[in-house]
Amino acid sequence: MTSFTQKDLLETPIDYLKGVGPKKAELFRQDFNVYTYDDLLHYYPYRHVDKSKIYKISELSEEGTFIQFKGIIRNYSIVGQQRGKRLVATFVDDSGSLELVWFNSIKWIEDLLKQKRDYIIFGKPTRFNGRWNITHPELIDPQNQSDSPIPLAFQPLYYTSEKAKKGGLDSKAISKLMITLITQTKEVIPEILSDEILQSHKLLLRKEALSAIHYPSDNAILSKATTRLKFDELFFTQMRLLKLKLITSKKIKGHHFAIVGAHFNDFYHHHLKFELTNAQKRVIKEIRADMGSGKQMNRLLQGDVGSGKTITALLLMLIAIDNGFQTCLMAPTEILATQHFENISKQLAGMDIKVEFLSGSTKVARRRAIHEQLLNGEIDILIGTHALIEKEVTFKNLGFVVIDEQHRFGVEQRAKLWQKNQTPPHILVMTATPIPRTLSMTLYGDLDLSVIDELPKGRKPIITKHLFEKNRLALYGFMKSQIEAGRQIFVVYPLIEENEKLDLLALMEGYDIIATHFPLPQYAIGLVHGKMKATKKEFEMQRFIKKETQILLSTTVIEVGIDVPNATVMVVENAERFGLSQLHQLRGRVGRGGEQSYCLLVSGNKLSNDSKQRLAAMVNTNDGFEIANIDLELRGPGDIQGTKQSGMLDFKIADLVKDEKLIAYTRQLAQDLLLEDADLALEKNMRIKNHLAKIESHNLWWGLIS
Ligand code: ADP
Ligand code: MG
Repeated sequence: MTSFTQKDLLETPIDYLKGVGPKKAELFRQDFNVYTYDDLLHYYPYRHVDKSKIYKISELSEEGTFIQFKGIIRNYSIVGQQRGKRLVATFVDDSGSLELVWFNSIKWIEDLLKQKRDYIIFGKPTRFNGRWNITHPELIDPQNQSDSPIPLAFQPLYYTSEKAKKGGLDSKAISKLMITLITQTKEVIPEILSDEILQSHKLLLRKEALSAIHYPSDNAILSKATTRLKFDELFFTQMRLLKLKLITSKKIKGHHFAIVGAHFNDFYHHHLKFELTNAQKRVIKEIRADMGSGKQMNRLLQGDVGSGKTITALLLMLIAIDNGFQTCLMAPTEILATQHFENISKQLAGMDIKVEFLSGSTKVARRRAIHEQLLNGEIDILIGTHALIEKEVTFKNLGFVVIDEQHRFGVEQRAKLWQKNQTPPHILVMTATPIPRTLSMTLYGDLDLSVIDELPKGRKPIITKHLFEKNRLALYGFMKSQIEAGRQIFVVYPLIEENEKLDLLALMEGYDIIATHFPLPQYAIGLVHGKMKATKKEFEMQRFIKKETQILLSTTVIEVGIDVPNATVMVVENAERFGLSQLHQLRGRVGRGGEQSYCLLVSGNKLSNDSKQRLAAMVNTNDGFEIANIDLELRGPGDIQGTKQSGMLDFKIADLVKDEKLIAYTRQLAQDLLLEDADLALEKNMRIKNHLAKIESHNLWWGLIS
């Protein structure tokens, strides 16, 4: 017996568990990141096998674990070609039928199926196109003794490593140790949620859940255990995020924007050329209220490409100016910053507001003048690139900062902006990067969120088509007809080799082809790419904006933000090489005026499954959030830009894609709870408070965020 008290029992080093010697303990630490009893309890199986009974096909109602059926193969055929080649069989029992699919060992399976026998099949049924099917089921011959089912009803399966297997820690060994562990600890596993939450959400007790996740007695309890443990993960993540937010908002005072004044009203009534959408109005109200609350605002403004975030931000900047503050707008590229500068200068023409531009290429003398005018308060709006956050750039009284297309800016840069005034400015981060709500709720959970979920009136949905090489002449014909109608066209080439020289070559080849089909003097073509000098790039962009060129060829430099309402066609070459959110961004460059616009995705004939799905998604929907969700499903959250190092997405059991509802739900719950009991001082919230303290002591990095 060890001398650990009950309370410490779960913190016992794994070495002490019966059956674990020093060698296995070392393996647990190295290969499984398991140090204590508690860690091992949270080492969940990746699936269970249920050989407790033979199921009927008609009993299937939801996707679950691996189960077995008994019946015969009615027919089968081999379909598809090359990598898509598969054997599809219809399996029937006396209650119904389902489909079996094999992609591998087709020949071998076919020989087996020719024998026409009764089979027990074992696998995980999934629903596809309204039909149940099992991919790569195990075929068990009921007559064959050695194939007989494992005696234990529910057998957990655990991930392990080659090294651990050699050291005696295969899945079976782990599952044995788990029995020992659960028997020994179950009664001391503390509850961490309040009785109130447990009861109102009918959640399994934590000790029941942690035991049943390994050894459930049936599917129903397994599903309840899964829900409970997901709930814990998501709820406590949200509690931590929201507590952080609460602390920031309590500790940090913000500028109080009390009035909506002359500048705002003058602009709104005399300069604004269109009616704001309801979503824009709502968002302006939300943000105004936030900036008038006395707290410092940290807010994310999401809106699909073309939803009109810029004008929304401009109106808010005018409110800041009306309250006697300076503002700045930061964009990720020189082109985009320039465009913002020009648009905003134009829109504010005739008003008594001084707008300036600052970027890395601003000449020294000019830069000095700007620095001075920022300090003496002459400049009201400063627009520019990263150059804005440099140390030398100091303001007289910066009150409001807008960051456009934030995915290119890190958290650190955001923090630098805070230091630009004694009282930190309000910060509005605008993004059209389709980030699914579930992700933004987690990743930006410490920011408040405003969403423009409506496009300006009169926009016709962009028509998207997927074309192949063989359609090229038709494509050029179509482009000509659009040019004849007075429209303009983007043609975008991807980064192919991640090698600037070769990429440029691909672009130049493209240019030659287009130039032969669209000859001077009838047509004028412009060209921009990343290797060009900023001034030259700018010159080419301006020619396009002024309609001196009809076709603009480019690499993805135009991906973000460019606004040329007369451009109605976006041609993407080698579209299969682009990511989904990138394609959506590119498409957002057209469809900005009243004319029907088109996005034409040109690809090679050979496409991977993923590419096919991406292109199909683009053709099927214009909705940025839907695109974001498909992207998340195809790539997983780890790949979404900027999320990799966050550590926040490191869930053991919750799933950012599938558990969207639970994420929203637990966030709301955490919000309500903190509203009632911000310091978690109430007796009923004691357990939650203790558990949070425990998590925080384990996660030092947490304090470094935001
Ligand atoms: P994004 O959200 O992609 O940054 P922009 O702010 O660039 O969108 O707006 C896209 C285009 O729509 C711009 O030309 C802008 O002037 C125009 N626009 C914005 N709001 C409206 C509106 N309410 N009605 C009509 N056009 C609008
Ligand atoms: Mg924009």
